Amino acid sequence: MSFIIFTMIQWTWDIHHYSDNVVEKIDEILTVIDEPTARAIEQYDESLAYSIVSGVTIHSEVYRVQIFDSDDIILAQILQYQRNGKLRKAADFFLGPNKVYKREIRSIDENGRGSRIGYFVVYIDTETSFITFLERIWFVFLIGLIRNAILAFCLSIILYQRITKPLVSLSRKVSHIDLDDPRPDAIHPPRSHTANEIGLLYDQIKLLLQRLKQYSNKRDTKESTLRQIANTDPLTGVFNRRFFEEKGKQIVQRKSECALILFDIDHFKSVNDTLGHDVGDFVIKFVASTISECLRDEDVLARIGGEEFAVLLPNNSINTAVTVADRIRLKIKNNSQAQTALGERVITISGGVSHKAREKGELSALLKSADQALYRAKQSGRDQIHCSDES
Ligand code: GH3
Ligand code: MG
Ligand code: MG
Repeated sequence: MSFIIFTMIQWTWDIHHYSDNVVEKIDEILTVIDEPTARAIEQYDESLAYSIVSGVTIHSEVYRVQIFDSDDIILAQILQYQRNGKLRKAADFFLGPNKVYKREIRSIDENGRGSRIGYFVVYIDTETSFITFLERIWFVFLIGLIRNAILAFCLSIILYQRITKPLVSLSRKVSHIDLDDPRPDAIHPPRSHTANEIGLLYDQIKLLLQRLKQYSNKRDTKESTLRQIANTDPLTGVFNRRFFEEKGKQIVQRKSECALILFDIDHFKSVNDTLGHDVGDFVIKFVASTISECLRDEDVLARIGGEEFAVLLPNNSINTAVTVADRIRLKIKNNSQAQTALGERVITISGGVSHKAREKGELSALLKSADQALYRAKQSGRDQIHCSDES
């Protein structure tokens, strides 16, 4: 709509300048015939002068042409009819009254000096000009419309580059933001934008993402603390039964070979009864830390009962697992004598070992077999390690 209004304004402007254009056109024509006109005046050649004025009056806007010599005597003239018709008023309004165009004719001598030898007078009929203009009006309007449409298209591309493009790019970036891992650095205002508001919008979103990142970091820390609390036995700091079962299932499923050891402190009830519950707790912690010292990083140790521990050893044969279990048993037995809280009391543990290659390959089966082996170790007098293939 706006470019149609713009076209109308331009159209009105074009009408006002149309008669100037006609004058310019006539001037161009007269420039070409300057030299023959000068000759006609110099030689007082009336027929040549007449043919010149006839040529100029071919133009419909011209209604009178005269050639004068330097004494203001008419050499040749042609007077066309002047319509004074119904369009006169409109033509006067748009183009103004008839125009008279006067051009001097000069002769150049051998020294290159010019002297005035006569003049040309052309009367331009603005009404005819106006009619000619009206005949072309739709063409002029159409050309103006096309030109302005192209202009509007170019402008819209520039606007798109300056305003829309940064916004589209921003909305794309925002839609790709991972709320769990927001990255404020991914938001860069484009260099080309000029609107200050776009820069502000980018800054605000960047700020928002920074806050979201801080919030997400805090939440991650809280989550990891909570996860640690949920997976850990508070007394010993090793994993609890819940985590052991969850992690153990994954390991047993993935690993082609793994071994499981179950430990149980011997006659622990009497430790509590004779030395007190606090010493009992101390013993549980001592056993947990001693087991932990003898394991590799990939082994998983958990307290799965009051004074019972389970260890999962991925990629270990049953013989290695028995050796490890026995080393732990001896270490606890020997080191417990050094613990002042225990006095003369020696702590011993019993253990049962099972192995994936022999069991069905499920954690529950491994636990059951290891428990049976542990039971046999207890039955056989405690302070010893048994494995699941023993009868
Ligand atoms: P066994 O050699 O047959 O294993 O004999 P035991 O005395 O160890 O027998 P049992 O496994 O039945 O005894 C376990 C005891 O461990 C019973 C319980 O009072 C004690 N207990 C369980 N949890 C804790 C704890 O967190 N702290 C303390 N101090 N004692 C615990
Ligand atoms: Mg027990
Ligand atoms: Mg026990």
